[in-house]
Amino acid sequence: MAIPNGVKVGVAVAALAGAGFFVWRNASETDSNDFMLNRMTQFFTCANNHEFHLTAKEVRRISAANDGQMRCPQCSALADERFQCPNCQKLIEPVGHGNIPTACPHCKQKL
Ligand SMILES: [Zn+2]
Ligand SMILES: [Zn+2]
Repeated sequence: MAIPNGVKVGVAVAALAGAGFFVWRNASETDSNDFMLNRMTQFFTCANNHEFHLTAKEVRRISAANDGQMRCPQCSALADERFQCPNCQKLIEPVGHGNIPTACPHCKQKL
């Protein structure tokens, strides 16, 4: 059976994170929080320009496994959070301290 590389990496990361992950879950999560985190999507671009998105729950899991750093599921490079333009769906780099720019750099629509 062929397993995509991303899945294998994910399983390895999850195995490595095991201990810390359970501590984190027991300390701060409730069932309703889990539900919310599974529905929230966060977007990222890694240092090698891979664009990807994950649920907030996966983001927490991956960053917890990497000392709080977000890593690309494809190449393991550090990744920065992005916003998705509601008009053209392209990813937008935040300005300043995680703020949305006034207009999309791709389609020039006001945000
Ligand atoms: Zn990457
Ligand atoms: Zn746009």
